Parts: sequence; structure tokens; C-alpha cells
Amino acid sequence: MMDIFYSSTRGHNKKVTASQAILQGLAEDGGLFVPEKIPAFENTLEEFAQMSYQETAYAVMKLLLTDFTEEELKYCINSAYDSKFDTKEIAPMAEAEGVYYLELFHGRTIAFKDMALSILPYLMTTAAKKNQVKNEIVILTATSGDTGKAALAGFADVPGTRILVFYPKNGVSPIQERQMVTQKGANTRVVGIYGNFDDAQSGVKKLFADQELAAQMEEKGFQFSSANSINIGRLVPQIVYYVYAYAQLLKEERISAGEAINVVVPTGNFGNILAAYYAKNMGLPIAKLICASNDNKVLYDFFSTGTYDRNREFVLTTSPSMDILISSNLERLIYRVAGEDAQKNAELMKALNQEGKYEITAQMKEKLADFYGNYATGAECADKLKELYENTGYIIDTHTAVAAVVCDKYKNATKDAAKTVIASTASPFKFTRSVMTAIDASYDSMDDFALVDELSRIGNVAVPAAIEEIRTAPVLHDIQCDKTEMKEAVKTFLGL
Ligand SMILES: *Cc1c(COP(=O)(O)O)cnc(C)c1O
Repeated sequence: MMDIFYSSTRGHNKKVTASQAILQGLAEDGGLFVPEKIPAFENTLEEFAQMSYQETAYAVMKLLLTDFTEEELKYCINSAYDSKFDTKEIAPMAEAEGVYYLELFHGRTIAFKDMALSILPYLMTTAAKKNQVKNEIVILTATSGDTGKAALAGFADVPGTRILVFYPKNGVSPIQERQMVTQKGANTRVVGIYGNFDDAQSGVKKLFADQELAAQMEEKGFQFSSANSINIGRLVPQIVYYVYAYAQLLKEERISAGEAINVVVPTGNFGNILAAYYAKNMGLPIAKLICASNDNKVLYDFFSTGTYDRNREFVLTTSPSMDILISSNLERLIYRVAGEDAQKNAELMKALNQEGKYEITAQMKEKLADFYGNYATGAECADKLKELYENTGYIIDTHTAVAAVVCDKYKNATKDAAKTVIASTASPFKFTRSVMTAIDASYDSMDDFALVDELSRIGNVAVPAAIEEIRTAPVLHDIQCDKTEMKEAVKTFLGL
């Protein structure tokens, strides 16, 4: 097997191993780590069709995390994908109206972030051991709602780590907030900031680059790492479920080996759909990568025009985990379509940083032909959710509804009849109010937990353990700060 090294999307001078890239999170020059080569699968599709989720994970991840031993990687995989998930399949599929919903929400916090964040703590502590890191690792995370809880759940009480999560105080769902502020674990802290997700994310990026803070931390035996979706340790595990989904369709004889499928992904930071793109590049027969946005449709505009422009009003939607104007992981795609030209990519990212926009060349745009972008308004999502429920009884969440609307738009526009997998990124129980009022506006008068029970009744699905837990759990975190005070919050947490 070939060794894969990682380099920054903004400079080629330094190569690191996978474990070093996971520990570091972001490259020193502010770029994202990318594999120098995207390896091809070593298994046939028929072989994948015989594998369990865990076996698929090993067959895929070993190709990219080449400095982990077989024993280390299997330890990480088996520790992550176990009974924390409420189904043995880990990522089951449901068919409704002729499309396949790949349910990525059966983990501990009932959103797709669990797919990667259940394994990241194991990858990171294993990486620390391999690299003789003695410092305590401090995970610093900005969240639009789901990453925060999934990272907290993953890292809580993991020896040798601490975790601090910043979330936009008024930009997450009530259930999301409650899930976070009730988090147990002596090594955890949750802070609500007065600002939006982009403020939280920019603030965290600044803290990562703060040399003075890094020196103070080093002195006290701490170092930062990132659980955000820019970490390669999150991207790699996400490739697995696309392979698994394809293999399941093949196993059930819904497709023939080699038949190309389309995938639709409700997109925010561009991590999930980028994993599908990597899967395609590794050899998975995916035809179209359909990028679904909500009213913050910066990606739709980018795919239509070739210009990425974040200078616009930030819209709070019913799919808050996608309320993002700077899709960080897009940089990895830009780098690739720029012909792995780090200089060119760095120029574009500089323009994004300074002017809030950049334009790619016609040649680069040609290489985006596999992508199709569109968006869905809040009203369209609510209508779709209701229609699907009334036609089939299947209830999806508001993020998945964005994908379902865009899937319909794509099919109507192209008449493409390829089999389609929709990434279903959250349980409807996580966004109960928006889901239930989409089905019937009069539900709005009920309180959050009464709505949970009603959703369980009409959808004929048991209330997930993640929701039962927070009904009565005490609030353990009640800290807010201004977006300019994030550094102080870090120092207080670490006692600096
Ligand atoms: C994070 C999230 C998304 C967006 O995923 P990206 O990888 O950031 O594009 C979509 N839906 C839900 C429910 C999420 O939590």
C-alpha cells in the first residue's frame, strides 16, 4: 500500500503524515490539509457489498490514514461504531417516493456529525500517542448547532483532552441549545456568543492563529486542535457511508455493479458533499453531486456563476446547521480544480478574506461539471416535508427537506432517471418545532417536549434516547460572551 502524505492547500513546502494532520487540524499557513494523491479503492464493489459498516470503514480509511497501523485503525473504528448507534447498520437507508434516504442520524446526538465525531476522539488520541505528544489537547470548536453537541459527546471525559464549544446564542434550535448546555464531563465547556456562526468560526480561526496564545498554552502544557469539519480526521470517515450506501443498493439488487447513482447533500460547510466527491474520485460510481443550499445560497450562486461572494445578508432559516456564508471545505475543491496549484488557491482565499469574494477561471469551472447546485426556500421545504409525510408517512428533518426539494428541482430540470441517494443529515426530533409546524401550523402552540411526543405518535417512531436524556437534564453551562471576547473565554477555561 502506498503511503499518503498531506500538504496544505496554500503551500507545498511541508508534508505531514495523516496523524500529524489530524492533530494539527489546520495547516500553519491557514490552509487545509489535503492528501497529495487520492488513492483508488482496493476492493471491488461486489466485495464492498459483503462488508459490514465497520469493515467498509477499515477498507476505505486505511487507504488515506496510512500511518495508522491495522490494529490502531480497527481499534478506533470498533470503539466508534458500536452500540452508541441505535442500529446495527449504523447508516440505514429508507426508500420514499422512489429515492433513497441515507439516514446518517442514528448516533448519540442524532445528527450526521456523529458519523465522524464518534471516531475523531479515538483518531486524535491515537495520533497523539504516535507522535509522542505530551500536552493536553484542547479542542476548540465553532458550531452552527450540530457539530458542537456531537464533538462534546465524543470528547467528554476522554483523558488527555479538553473541549470548548462556541455557538451563536440566537442561531441554533431550542433542542440543539439544550443538548449542548446540559453536556456532562469535567473537561467540557460551552459558550454562547453574541454573533452568528460565521463570527464564531472566524473567531476560532483567529484563536488558532494566535501565536501569543499558543506560547502561553505551551508553557502550561496545552495545545489546540480542531474538531471542525476542516479536520481531515472528519472528512475521511465521511467517505465511508457513501461507499456503504452504494454497496447496500448493490446488495439489495436495486442497482447493478458499476451503475452510476446521484447523491444529493444538504450543504453548509461543504464537508459532507466533499466526502462524496472524494468517494467518487476513489472509484465510487457517482454521476452527479447535487449540492443543496437553503436561503443562504452562496454555493448555488457559485456553481451557477463561478463567483463565490459572501457579501450578502445572512439569513436565519429553519435549517440552521446550514446557515453559513463561508463554506470552509470548498477550499479543498478549489485547490483541486485549480490543478492542485496552491499558489492560485492561496490568491483566491486571500481575495475571499479581503474582499469577501473571488472568481474562478473558465478552465476551473469546467472541472466542476459533476456538480449541480440549487437551493430551497423555507416555504418549499415545509411544503415538501408535509407532502412526503402525507404521501408516505415518512418524516424528514428540515435540512433533509432542503435536499429533497433540490432533488425534485434537479429531476424536473434534467429528466435524469439515475437512482438517487439523499443524505439525510438529522433526525426530525432535533428540529421538532419546525418539522411539526410544517406539517400543521397549529402545532406551534404546543411546548417543545409535547411536540416531541406528538411527532413520535404521528410518525410512529420512538423518541430517540438523545431527546429523552435532555427532558430533565440540568443546565450545566450558562456562559455567554461577545464575539470579541472569545480569547478571554479560552484563557478562563484553561486557567491562563
Ligand atoms: C452540519 C450539517 C449540515 C451541513 O453539512 P456540511 O458538511 O457542513 O456541508 C447539514 N445538515 C445537518 C443536520 C448538519 O448538522
